[in-house]
Amino acid sequence: MSNPTLQELLDGVRSGNRRATARAISLVENADPLGYAFLREVFPETGRSYAVGFTGPPGVGKSTLLSALVTLLRERELRLGVISVDPSSPFTQGALLGDRIRLVDHFLDPGVFIRSMGTRGHLGGLAQATLEAALVLDAAGSDILLLETVGTGQSEVEVRGLADTVVLVLMPGSGDAVQALKAGIMEIPDVIVVNKADQAPAAAILTDIRTTLALGELERMPALITTEALTGEGIDELWSEIEDHRAWLGTEGKLEPRRREHLAREVFAIAGAQARTHLEQAVVDDPELRRVLDAVQDRSLDPLSAVREILETVFRIDSDRC
Ligand code: GDP
Repeated sequence: MSNPTLQELLDGVRSGNRRATARAISLVENADPLGYAFLREVFPETGRSYAVGFTGPPGVGKSTLLSALVTLLRERELRLGVISVDPSSPFTQGALLGDRIRLVDHFLDPGVFIRSMGTRGHLGGLAQATLEAALVLDAAGSDILLLETVGTGQSEVEVRGLADTVVLVLMPGSGDAVQALKAGIMEIPDVIVVNKADQAPAAAILTDIRTTLALGELERMPALITTEALTGEGIDELWSEIEDHRAWLGTEGKLEPRRREHLAREVFAIAGAQARTHLEQAVVDDPELRRVLDAVQDRSLDPLSAVREILETVFRIDSDRC
């Protein structure tokens, strides 16, 4: 598939062809006009996949858990798309990141499509790259999309913004993450997993999490379970909790509003990232704007006047009205 036509790409992806799917993702990632034409065409068909996002500190066993879940869902003959997001990695285009090696077990399975996303070269940042890949995998007929963030921090936003169900993965000793939940720094997820229950007693962290959750006024209490990803212990229960949450969203009529809100957030996130890239480039390219920055650095111009001048020049925004 060196130079497919739009129709070939559409036919290929719609029939779940792997090469066409990989090609479509590469085209959109590379901002190829054919990629955009493809996305415009398939977007109305998307929204059929159910997206589950996994977040949590590094090393808690997210990718091991994901791999075990993939095995379970493949036994149930579901078609899967897996997206691994690593904001610290410069790689993209399907490179397997760090120790995501466990997922390699599933590379040859035609019912699973695995994609890794790094930060390289996306005008709209990782949010854009992840959304685009998710849309392609949705159009390719994935029943379930599993989205994983590698590491913590800003990347969680990317996965949360696309996930219908958010799973937070912790392990005994993840006290900082529980503190972040308590302090409201981290949003309350839909399902909380304490993994590595074989390695250390989980009782203390479970109590800590329960106490934390009891403090909030939550619309729905998150499910709280323990797993041993290496042996597969608890993976059935994890999936059934995800399905319970999905059913709750459905019966309460909450899935559609959640998705609408997510899509709006995605548009803002991508537009924001693109605007920032544009702004930075414009300042680099324009000697006059660079002088404005220099003036601030010399303390001969105040920062707000600089902002006003830059916004007026680059976006024709009258910042008096901002
Ligand atoms: P991630 O960074 O959250 O994706 O974590 P990984 O899935 O890469 O796992 C980190 C390490 O923990 C690896 O060496 C895994 O083999 C190990 N691990 C994952 N799950 C378990 C578990 O349930 N029990 C034990 N003992 N080790 C685990």
